[in-house]
Amino acid sequence: GATTRPPPNPSPLRTAKFFQANMRILVTGGAGFIGSHLVDRLMENEKNEVVVVDNFFTGSKDNLKQWIGHPRFELIRHDVTEPLLVEVDQIYHLACPASPIFYKYNPVKTIKTNVIGTLNMLGLAKRVGARILLTSTSEVYGDPLVHPQDESYWGNVNPIGVRSCYDEGKRVAETLMFDYHRQHGIEIRIARIFNTYGPRMNIDDGRVVSNFIAQAIRNEPLTVQSPGTQTRSFCYVSDMVDGLIRLMEGNNTGPINLGNPGEFTMLELAENVKELINPEVKIIHVENTPDDPRQRKPVITKAKEVLDWEPTIKLRDGLPRMEEDFRKRLGIPRTA
Ligand code: NAD
Ligand code: UDP
Ligand code: UDP
Repeated sequence: GATTRPPPNPSPLRTAKFFQANMRILVTGGAGFIGSHLVDRLMENEKNEVVVVDNFFTGSKDNLKQWIGHPRFELIRHDVTEPLLVEVDQIYHLACPASPIFYKYNPVKTIKTNVIGTLNMLGLAKRVGARILLTSTSEVYGDPLVHPQDESYWGNVNPIGVRSCYDEGKRVAETLMFDYHRQHGIEIRIARIFNTYGPRMNIDDGRVVSNFIAQAIRNEPLTVQSPGTQTRSFCYVSDMVDGLIRLMEGNNTGPINLGNPGEFTMLELAENVKELINPEVKIIHVENTPDDPRQRKPVITKAKEVLDWEPTIKLRDGLPRMEEDFRKRLGIPRTA
């Protein structure tokens, strides 16, 4: 079991909290999909100051436009593979492309982001005495031989495949987190996030929910990658953000699975999108990519017990919310 020791250098910001109640929170990758929703939630609390650091590889300023110029908000263009000097109380470390087409685009950069980026954020956490949360991934379980997956499973990961830059990168990031915790007493939190969807996903980022919804709206065939019987479990983004904040505020280091245990085959997902968004659309089979995990479903017992958290939004309720956002961004209203 992981123990929680006080940080070696209590942050002046933390000790000053008796006088100054504000909490300064760094969100790396805050211009991305999950990050920007997290920022929205953190900004709702008037005691929070939020600093976003992002290199805009897959994120955009547009996701944060409602906060730019706000006195409690700062946006810094910065790459986490370079050292960063800021004074903060908490770090939500999300920076890392999450979609396979983007993380495979420059795999060496993906590894640097996961390894050097996480090392830098841990060095920062150590210097200022901040608590740091890493958004790890269900990909650490690889193509799992245990189903469903709980946190005690060590995974089945190909170390030399095309996905390895991401999943091995995240595994090293988790290792770094625990070594900084054990060696330097850093307060760490690790979330293992399962597939998450919702408004603001990149429309053409190749992930299955965004692909199917965009295809259904554009009246293009839904591309089910073979065999189509592979499964995923999809969590709506507001549920995910709620879980991340509970994890940060709680006392457990994790790793803790955060995801929706509702499991669907990709064919079932296509059928749902067809029924809800465009009953006329065709479903076709296309070739798959290497090392595609055949099944994935979280055991969330630990999150329920430790965080009193479970998802509240079912896939069939989340898909229409995402459709609305995609129609706006694509400029294709429902009646068209
Ligand atoms: P995203 O691609 O929308 O967001 C990632 C953000 O990080 C982007 O804004 C990007 O510009 C930024 N970024 C990337 N490399 C950077 C670097 N070197 N320096 C600074 N900024 C950088 O992805 P997301 O879906 O919001 O994912 C956020 C986090 O959650 C990631 O760590 C991802 O691995 C994890 N995660 C996501 C999912 C999911 O289904 N979305 C599943 C598991 C884990
Ligand atoms: N680091 C950073 N910001 C800080 C403190 C450290 O980016 O405020 C970086 C630092 O450049 C180093 C990494 O974090 O590359 C690890 O720092 P640590 O102090 O743990 O290790 P060391 O500098 O002794 O290698
Ligand atoms: N997938 C699909 N059609 C698409 C895109 C993806 O059938 O247009 C499948 C893919 O083969 C995988 C699943 O959907 O089995 C989830 O893929 P995604 O890239 O969304 O996420 P990840 O593989 O990282 O879970």
